[in-house]
Amino acid sequence: MNLILLGPPGAGKGTQAQRIVERYHIPQISTGDILRAAVKDGTPLGTKAKAFMDRGQLVPDEVVIGTIEERLKAKDCDSGFILDGFPRTIPQAKALGSILTKIGKGMDHVINIEVPSEELVRRLTGRRTCKNCGAMFHVLFQPPKEVGLCDRCGGSLYQRADDNDETIRTRLKEYEKQTAPLIQYYRDGKKLRSIEGTGGPDQIFDQIARFLDATPV
Ligand SMILES: [Zn+2]
Repeated sequence: MNLILLGPPGAGKGTQAQRIVERYHIPQISTGDILRAAVKDGTPLGTKAKAFMDRGQLVPDEVVIGTIEERLKAKDCDSGFILDGFPRTIPQAKALGSILTKIGKGMDHVINIEVPSEELVRRLTGRRTCKNCGAMFHVLFQPPKEVGLCDRCGGSLYQRADDNDETIRTRLKEYEKQTAPLIQYYRDGKKLRSIEGTGGPDQIFDQIARFLDATPV
């Protein structure tokens, strides 16, 4: 089962990817993780990637795509994989298509978690982190017992600078601008499955599992 998971910041993509991994026993492939692994292992592509990262530059597509190709060839991807955070653009999607053809695989489903912007803003602006131990809370969904204080260690809670309303709206607009063409691309290719992402993690996963179970590959 070869999958791509799409969804805006705050959609709970990480949680859903984790659950898919557990239920379907396929590895989760995220670009950040495989780039870090390639750098650590000192592979030729990892060495190239490191040169850009050390200069604080974005790792160019050809290097990212190369590491993804290496990763997808690994044995544990034989029964499938879930790509998270890649592709982000149409050129990347096309490159991914070519890689898959080259290594004799295909893409089965592109799962797109849809959440209205207002809901995302509500989720993201409510996050609070403990200054002392790093524990995470949410003013609506997981409030601390005492306002502003960590349940675990009593430390004071703060809102990350990039979790304010304006920054979040900018991030969401950026995401939409970048991803809308990608969503259309996969919709045109009849691969896209949209999932309503407004409920809790269990409800969202129920929809994903029901869909995947009903369309075995
Ligand atoms: Zn704490």
